[in-house]
Amino acid sequence: MHDVLPEQTPLWQYAEKIIQEVLGAYGYSEIRLPVLEKTELFKRSIGEVTDIVEKEMYTFDDRNGDSLTLRPEGTAGCLRACLEHGLLHNQVHRLWYYGPMYRHERPQKGRYRQFIQLGVETYGMSGPDIDAELILIMDRLWKRLGIRDKVKLQLNSLGTIHERNIYRDCLVSYFQQHLDQLDEDSLRRLQSNPLRILDTKNPAMQAVVANAPELKDFLGTDSAEHFKAITTILDNLGISYELNSRLVRGLDYYSKTVFEWVTDELGSQGTVCAGGRYDSLIEQLGGKANHAVGFAMGIERLLALVETLDNLQLPKPVDVYLIRVGESAQQEGLRLAEMIRDQVPGLRLQVCADGGSFKSQFKKADKIGADYAVILGDDEVSRGVVGIKSLRIQQEQQTLTPSQAVTFLQDYLRSR
Ligand code: ATP
Ligand code: MG
Repeated sequence: MHDVLPEQTPLWQYAEKIIQEVLGAYGYSEIRLPVLEKTELFKRSIGEVTDIVEKEMYTFDDRNGDSLTLRPEGTAGCLRACLEHGLLHNQVHRLWYYGPMYRHERPQKGRYRQFIQLGVETYGMSGPDIDAELILIMDRLWKRLGIRDKVKLQLNSLGTIHERNIYRDCLVSYFQQHLDQLDEDSLRRLQSNPLRILDTKNPAMQAVVANAPELKDFLGTDSAEHFKAITTILDNLGISYELNSRLVRGLDYYSKTVFEWVTDELGSQGTVCAGGRYDSLIEQLGGKANHAVGFAMGIERLLALVETLDNLQLPKPVDVYLIRVGESAQQEGLRLAEMIRDQVPGLRLQVCADGGSFKSQFKKADKIGADYAVILGDDEVSRGVVGIKSLRIQQEQQTLTPSQAVTFLQDYLRSR
């Protein structure tokens, strides 16, 4: 679990702002959810025989003896909240949430025990438009962050649960004929979750997986048409994708559409964003049969990609640094700083609070990365003026009245 230190937070805030703008552009509303839920919720939704439930959850009994779990993902909690508050009956059917998720995994680059996800969920819409809309949102986000050419979309359809069960039987008998080529993990999954074998990262198993029967040959007309309609929309809007019939996702609740955005710039943790349709989950959690499709994005992996850009310009914490020297400048400086904050909202103004000579305060101004120093000495106070000096370009210090200084800083803020 990581601390995000002050030098890293500008990158986070930059991405978070863009994420909010992009979701806003599609009319999605934010929902804020607790990080703890009843363990039962995750077992019922994610599935007992998934990596998450089998070995990754942080679960404990609270003082009442109730079993609680730190959320390993957000879909279940979001749906729990919507059912609890009757949200599925009114108009708010496009939601997003953002926050920490917890999984007890082996930590490595791009894989942490607390990580941040953006989750986007939509309810009540069965048509292919909404599946495509989610993909458009992600595509727009990559473009806004400048990483569009670093990620690729992979698409598949898992069909309905019924279609998948027929496929599953067929897959199990195929693998049973090739038991000698399966690793220990896959042998275990053969009964519990055979589709997950297709997801193996073991190079020795690539051949046996490549020759396995393909799910796409088992889709019924409705599933096949739904999938075709999504690809038609993407074709029309110029969004490229790869069909990947081995894409099965780790969670049990998906049906029909599944997708992942992958990159080859982050080593083995290359999936930045993943999601799909999970029409059966609402009923499974006690709601009326309904439709749902969503995705989750790992923000640490997203930021790791953004950080590979060489032209990234992130804001520094301070624009202007106020230097005060002498007895009368102390009080006057605070008054001036508050006046500037009133008049120039958005400007980040820091007052030097630990004194020192002009020289040492200038050094601090430079170190914190401010563009300008505003200078107040006894002389300026007695004349009713302030000094302003650029810390970035060679320029004489200017002497301005307070209201000229405000205009100067307003212009600076506009041009920044
Ligand atoms: P993976 O195959 O990498 O384990 P997953 O299928 O378990 O991923 P999801 O549950 O679909 O992942 O989560 C969606 C996204 O959240 C992932 O694509 C990834 O970007 C991010 N993510 C998942 N687990 C972690 C983790 N332990 N640390 C950081 N990011 C994670
Ligand atoms: Mg995982």
